[in-house]
Amino acid sequence: MTGSFNALKLVEDQITDLELQLLKRQLRVTESACDTTALVGNRLLNTFCSNDYLGLANHPKIIDGLMEGAKKYGVGSGASHLISGHNVAHDHLEKKLASFQASHIPKARALFFSTGYLANLAAITGLVRLAPSGGASIYSAKLNHASLIDGVRLASVQNNAAVTLFDHTQPASLLSSIKNDVRPLKLIVVDGVFSMDGDLAPVKELLRIAEQSDALLLIDDAHGFGVLGKNGHGILEQENISSDRIIYIGTLGKAAGVSGAFVCAKDQFIEWLIQKGRPYIYSTATPPAIAHALLKSLEIIEGDEGKERRAQLYRLIQIWQDEMSFTQWTKVSSCTPIQPVVLGSNANALMAAKLLDEASYWIPAIRPPTVPPGSARLRVTFSASHREEDLYQLIKTLKTIEQQVMDKASS
Ligand SMILES: *Cc1c(COP(=O)(O)O)cnc(C)c1O
Repeated sequence: MTGSFNALKLVEDQITDLELQLLKRQLRVTESACDTTALVGNRLLNTFCSNDYLGLANHPKIIDGLMEGAKKYGVGSGASHLISGHNVAHDHLEKKLASFQASHIPKARALFFSTGYLANLAAITGLVRLAPSGGASIYSAKLNHASLIDGVRLASVQNNAAVTLFDHTQPASLLSSIKNDVRPLKLIVVDGVFSMDGDLAPVKELLRIAEQSDALLLIDDAHGFGVLGKNGHGILEQENISSDRIIYIGTLGKAAGVSGAFVCAKDQFIEWLIQKGRPYIYSTATPPAIAHALLKSLEIIEGDEGKERRAQLYRLIQIWQDEMSFTQWTKVSSCTPIQPVVLGSNANALMAAKLLDEASYWIPAIRPPTVPPGSARLRVTFSASHREEDLYQLIKTLKTIEQQVMDKASS
């Protein structure tokens, strides 16, 4: 290489920096299906870190659905949806997904994507393109998921959208800034369930603000779909809200146990995204077999088994709320299967994760930039496949480990 710019040297230096700041991330290879235990390098670890909240990722009926779908439709879709990749399995899935939100979004239609990241990029950039350049204003919650943040950034670059961040726990602050906004298109963007804290967005108040200010409300319910609401339809069902201003995003690789995501909104909005959502248009359709498997997952979510699985999940959450207490660490208040424990420093979080690993538990340390600096944490999550005794054992282990970390920190 010539000149003073040496990319390889830069990479080495930057990675060394990450190591020094205790921010280097590590891939781990699992050798087993997603479950409450994972085989990692010949060791069996108890996992409390997946987003497989209903324990469906390894469900025999959905596995059969995937095989049946592959026998019927093969493995690849062959093209993007608008060319020739849109299969009847995608169509059935979209109709079923729309039916889940039909009481909450008038004339609901759903559009299937291969990932939530893509769905968020498409929805935000597509909606903002309804306005002329500079004519859109996005109000985005500070703790939103990275994929929403990236969608907002892309919309701001592509369409010159104005961006205002707000604190989702203070919706009044949002109202005061949005009500004087004269831009023709206003879009409020929030996580339904905040992915690193587990708390819910105040969607009723946000909808009221959207109505008062003539804004659209985009809710990313990645962690609520399948989990919240009597039938597992998500946050709109649980909070019992309905409006044609709601753009609902659900993901299908978490509680639904498979892969993919969808945008659900009033039919004309979906028609617009099909026309103008570049991440939708320029990406190969997900294998139809995945859509076919997802239909089985939705049947389970809505049926008696789904209700039983949610009941088990809520039993576990109750046990955690009642029985888990720390001396120094902070339990974040959450009514969802995401139950974070904030330790503060990266060093303490890494030490706790290492001690947990030695005790055969897999709960990684979550550090900046995934969470704000100084709030490194253990993100504990439950699955309906966990038994009560698994959780009691974890609670005992965590109390011991807190003591060990405190002892080490003071020695
Ligand atoms: C996981 C997640 C996504 C991304 O969904 P994928 O299907 O994994 O790409 C989007 N938003 C939130 C809030 C998430 O937690």
